[in-house]
Amino acid sequence: MAEITIPAHLLPNDGRFGCGPSKVRGEQLDFLASIQPRVLGTSHRQAPVKDLVGSVRAGLAELFRAPEGYEILLANGGATSFWDSAVHSLIETRSQHLAFGEFGAKFGTAASRAPWLEAPDIREAPAGSRSEAEAVAGVDVYAYPHNETSTGVMAEVRRVHGDPGALTVVDATSGAGGLDFDASEIDAYYFSPQKNFASDGGLWFALVSPAAIERIERIAASDRYIPDTLSLAGAVTNSRLNQTLNTPALATIALMDEQVRWINGQGGLSWAAARTAESAAVLYDWAERSTVATPFVENPAHRSNVVVTIDFDESIDASAISKALRANGVVDTEPYRKLGRNQLRIATFTAIDPDDVRTLTGCIDYVLERL
Ligand SMILES: *Cc1c(COP(=O)(O)O)cnc(C)c1O
Repeated sequence: MAEITIPAHLLPNDGRFGCGPSKVRGEQLDFLASIQPRVLGTSHRQAPVKDLVGSVRAGLAELFRAPEGYEILLANGGATSFWDSAVHSLIETRSQHLAFGEFGAKFGTAASRAPWLEAPDIREAPAGSRSEAEAVAGVDVYAYPHNETSTGVMAEVRRVHGDPGALTVVDATSGAGGLDFDASEIDAYYFSPQKNFASDGGLWFALVSPAAIERIERIAASDRYIPDTLSLAGAVTNSRLNQTLNTPALATIALMDEQVRWINGQGGLSWAAARTAESAAVLYDWAERSTVATPFVENPAHRSNVVVTIDFDESIDASAISKALRANGVVDTEPYRKLGRNQLRIATFTAIDPDDVRTLTGCIDYVLERL
């Protein structure tokens, strides 16, 4: 295949469209530089770092309009590690999981492997569609992703009204900071910082309700063995002191802090949700108009505003498009690797400029005409 060179004036200002790690804004790096030499290379038990952690926690509580008694927790390990923490520290007996993609399914698998829990109720749906939660007696945690990053399907954040005390636990890794929701509908809304928060991986953050904290403390007081690194009770104690059990990545926290401040300053979650909706609509409209592309997610109500998946006809090799884009500095438009579809997957996270998304459709057209 001949190399395709996209003329410079047709390229986006920033060519990062990956779903995580995702575009980091220059202003975040400027902020990181501005706090030096007080933060990087200094103790995470002292005020400069603890104040930064406190700022992120306060900023997230503001962003999520945290109801009375809700708290922001953080710990090392990312969302994947939060699943193991929840298996140890949050699920009492039995959980229900919506598995309409890789990430929702992985939490269900983690719960199914824990010998101290009953087999979870896992509700699968084929990739590109969505399963729905249903109240079931004996289930004490209802778990689903706000946004399924592997397929580009989003869900509404709604409390499941099951047994008294049952908790609604939402994987918000790719939704948080880019989609709006009502915090009173959740007991735990957890995420990693490398998606809409445009930071780096390795930590998890969570907005938790008083009911979740009560559950965490009750399980911690039982005779169940919980490793320190997975203990949510430990995360509650440490987070209240603006610290983590062991050393966190300080730059990640600083980048996160600046992104939260930026979103709050622009108008908060409703502003962010409008911006991601605008970007996503550009791509879905483009795909609807295209003779060779279609939105992968059939039901428009399920189509994600933060991760857009577009299928291509057999006549087009989508991987050739993403390869040509990559050669021109427009990166990470490949589909989720395990989905194995003839597809482009494009993040429309809050940091990504809707004008760059418009420009991207022009780049795809340019490549399509020359494949
Ligand atoms: C990226 C992602 C994860 C995994 O995050 P890690 O930080 O790699 O653990 C989990 N859930 C969803 C919905 C994601 O998008």
